[in-house]
Amino acid sequence: MKGLVVVFGLAAMVTLWGRVAAEPLFLGAEPTPRDSIILFDGKGLSEWTLLDGKPADWKLENDYMEVRGGNIRTKREFTDCQLHVEFRLPSMPSASGQGKANSGVYLQGRYEVQVLDSYGLKSQSNDCGGIYGVAAPMVNACRPPEQWQSYDIFFHAPRFKDGKQTGNARMSVLQNGVWIHDNVEIPGETTASAGGDLASPGPIMLQDHGNPIRYRNIWIRDLAADKH
Ligand code: MG
Repeated sequence: MKGLVVVFGLAAMVTLWGRVAAEPLFLGAEPTPRDSIILFDGKGLSEWTLLDGKPADWKLENDYMEVRGGNIRTKREFTDCQLHVEFRLPSMPSASGQGKANSGVYLQGRYEVQVLDSYGLKSQSNDCGGIYGVAAPMVNACRPPEQWQSYDIFFHAPRFKDGKQTGNARMSVLQNGVWIHDNVEIPGETTASAGGDLASPGPIMLQDHGNPIRYRNIWIRDLAADKH
């Protein structure tokens, strides 16, 4: 009898630990730092526009927004920053490759962290968590579709002095609390960049790649050096 109790006790502990360990570390993370700017909290799209400046018209539902009608960008522009974004992919079992729940989070509208259904794959630089075409994530930290996931992105804008570029953009990224990029150097704009002068601040851009990706709980810390 004692042995049975121990076995059941251990099984319960393992199950409980499994549940705790399966929760993404930073999912639902509150914008607790006092210097956070809330870019989307489910209440509206007032911080966002289409690329041509017209009002963003993504589907707004409860606490999330869903891709439709073109890329959207923040009205505010940034250089160095820390960005928190949560996203949820639709299940698209008959799609594959870049057609499977594609979207993207762009820093300065120029440097994409890919959003895609890459669950269980050996990740390449164009898979989810990849800095598009530049660097594959260190590990595949993806969750299956229809589950909320998070990115925490630590971004250094390119450096310029006297009109000359002296350093490239750099990025570290956590996906679901897992460290997937460590200060990766990004030699230039990634595919489908919104362009603009690399020396200028740029917006956060979310990509419409034709698939109904959902986003929620987006906040940023503006860490521009000239503010300090
Ligand atoms: Mg994309």
